[in-house]
Amino acid sequence: MKIFKFGGASVKSAEAIKQAAKIIGTEHAPLIVVVSAMGKMTNKLEALCSDYFYKKNGIEAHIEDIRHFHYNIIDSLFEKNAEQVKNKIERLLLELHQITVSEPSLCYDFEYDRIVSFGERISTAIVSEYLNSVSLSNRLVDIRTALKTDDNYRDANIDIALSGEFCKKAFTFDGVQRYVTQGFIAGTTTNQTTTLGREGSDYTAAILANLLDAESVTIWKDVPGVMNADPKIFTEAEIMPRISYKEAVELSHCGAQIIHPKTIKPLQNKDIPLRVKSFVNPEAEGSVILSIKEKMEMPPVYIVKKNQLLLTLSPRDFSFVAEEKLSHIFATLAKYRLKLHLVQQSAINFTFLIDYNAQTFDAFIDELQQTYEVLYNKNVTLLTIRHYNERIIEKLTTGKNILVEQRSRLTARFVINEN
Ligand code: ASP
Ligand code: MG
Repeated sequence: MKIFKFGGASVKSAEAIKQAAKIIGTEHAPLIVVVSAMGKMTNKLEALCSDYFYKKNGIEAHIEDIRHFHYNIIDSLFEKNAEQVKNKIERLLLELHQITVSEPSLCYDFEYDRIVSFGERISTAIVSEYLNSVSLSNRLVDIRTALKTDDNYRDANIDIALSGEFCKKAFTFDGVQRYVTQGFIAGTTTNQTTTLGREGSDYTAAILANLLDAESVTIWKDVPGVMNADPKIFTEAEIMPRISYKEAVELSHCGAQIIHPKTIKPLQNKDIPLRVKSFVNPEAEGSVILSIKEKMEMPPVYIVKKNQLLLTLSPRDFSFVAEEKLSHIFATLAKYRLKLHLVQQSAINFTFLIDYNAQTFDAFIDELQQTYEVLYNKNVTLLTIRHYNERIIEKLTTGKNILVEQRSRLTARFVINEN
C-alpha cells in the first residue's frame, strides 16, 4: 500500500484536482490519498474563527465566501451531478453555520480546531466525489474516527496505540483499492475535533504510513522536489535527488518549508521512504528521503525564516541566567506555545529567537518584564546555511546587519535585522 498526499496548492482549483486525479489514476497499488484544505482555505477559516470567538460582524460573509469558492470548483469539476455534490457540501456549511450562531466556549483553541477542520472535511468530500465520477472508485474515511489524539487543541498529540487499532479497522482494503481522507485533523476519545499544527497534513500521511506499514509516502508539491534553497529567492536553487532522514529532519527544523518537521520520525522508525514530487510534472524523479548510511556530498543549503523575534533577557536582580531562570524562561515559552529557533547565553544575558506572534506578543513581553530587563528586535530574519563554505557565507551576508552569528561544524546561522 502507498500513501499520496496532496497539499492545498495541489487541490486549489478544478484544474489542479483534475491533475491530482490523473496522478492517482496512474497508480495501481492499493492507495490512501491524504488531502489538505483547498488553496488558502485554512487561512480563511482562521479569520472566521477569530471573528466568531471575538464576536465581530461579518460571519455570514465569511461563510458565503467559503461557499462561493468551493461551488465554483464544483461547477467546473462536475458535468452531471454538481447539484448533488453541492448538497453534500451544503450540509457541512450548515453545520459550520450552526457553530457560529452558538455562544463560543472559553477555549479559543477548541473553537479553532472544530472550525478550521471544515477546510479538510469539504475538500475531501469534493475530491472523493470527483474521483468516483471519473471511475477512480474510493471510500472516504473521516480521519477523526481513526486518528485519536489528546485534547491539546491546535497541536494535538497522537495516541499511537489507539490510532493503530482504529486505523487498521478503518483502512481494511476489503473490496476497495483506494481511500480518501483528511490530513491535519484528528479526534479525541470523546469525539472532539483536533488539529496537528499548521501544515500538518504531511504528518498525517507519515503517521498513517507508520501505523499501516505503507510501502512509501509521496508528497505532491508545486516544486520539483526538495531544493537546496527557495527558488523564488535564489535563482541558482537546485534539486537534491537523495536526502537522508537525518538531513531532512535538520532541514525542516531550520525552517525549510518543504515538509512538516514532525513528518520524518514516523517514517524513519519504519524505514519507509518519503518521495517529494512535482505535481505539474509527475514523471520527473523528484527527491527521495530515506535511510542513507554512507557519507554524502551535500551542496550548501540555504533556509530563510522571516518575521522572527529576537529577545535578550537579563534578570533584574543581576543574578546569573542559571538553571532556575532557564526553566522559568522555557516554561513561559511553553505557556505561549512559542518554539525556540536559536539560543545564545552569557552570564547575565539570555538571547533567543522565536516566531513573531502578534496575538500573544504584548502579554508575553509583559510577563517576562516582571523578572527581566527585556530587549527585543521585531522583523528579523534567520538565515541558516547547512554545509556552508566561506564563499557562500560572504555572498549571502555581505552588507547585512547581523545581530547574532553562530557556527557549528555543519551549520552557520545568522540573525539579520531587516529594519
Ligand atoms: N490545511 C492545513 C494548513 O493549511 C494543513 C496542511 O495544509 O497541511 O495548515
Ligand atoms: Mg498546506
